[in-house]
Amino acid sequence: MGIVLRVSGGSAVREGRVRGHVEIHPDRCQGCGLCVVVCPEGALALEGPVLDSGYKAVKFLGGDCRADEHCFRVCPEPGALRVHRLQGAAHVGR
Ligand code: SF4
Repeated sequence: MGIVLRVSGGSAVREGRVRGHVEIHPDRCQGCGLCVVVCPEGALALEGPVLDSGYKAVKFLGGDCRADEHCFRVCPEPGALRVHRLQGAAHVGR
């Protein structure tokens, strides 16, 4: 089945696909930026709070996250981020 666009409140919403939300834990993020590089949707950026290391933590920008978990798989810091599927299965995490 193809993707259906529905216009709601002046914005188009893609239906028929999983969407995601990434929960960031700045206390565990080291600001390496690997998740930013691998995200195919540009949903992450190093725009979070400044860490003790002087780097910025990653921030979830929203947008068109597809919950593909690329960011979760590449992250070297346990517990730094979790991907929540807004349709379908529950979150993944470690
Ligand atoms: S789950 Fe995929 S699309 Fe969503 S922020 Fe992570 S890498 Fe990007």
